[in-house]
Amino acid sequence: MALRNILCDNHPVLRTPAQEVKRINSAVCRLIDDMIETMRDAEGVGLAANQVGVSKRILVASACGEDGEVYELINPRCEKVEGEAVGVEGCLSVPGQYGEVPRSEKIIVTALSREGEKVCLELEGLPARIILHEMDHLDGILFTDKAVRMIDPDELKSEEES
Ligand code: ZN
Repeated sequence: MALRNILCDNHPVLRTPAQEVKRINSAVCRLIDDMIETMRDAEGVGLAANQVGVSKRILVASACGEDGEVYELINPRCEKVEGEAVGVEGCLSVPGQYGEVPRSEKIIVTALSREGEKVCLELEGLPARIILHEMDHLDGILFTDKAVRMIDPDELKSEEES
């Protein structure tokens, strides 16, 4: 495994819709391993392949579980959305910025695993928010495009302290 460089701000690859994965081979598996390592090293909760410069529809995300489980989704597709909630988001590709972003509260997502098997996830709350944020990356969308309000980092700090 190896750490990959995370692209920032408006790098063209971040703004380009990523391509479907047609064949899951060892390069794809290696990429997923590297993405997980890179996400953990950067203390992020999710990472899309185009954030490390690979324009393929692959994402990894922390499942927010106790045992540090990680979702690995190839060609993810949102099948159903329900509700809406506004929450604070940041992004490894937009360092130092945070904003309030409306997202669906509950989602059903289908994707392929690295074994090529179809997986179906029903998610709610933070895990749903993380997956939707990463799926936006795969369409060339950043959270700053959708934020209804950007937050001053000092404001966050005082919130944490109080
Ligand atoms: Zn992001």
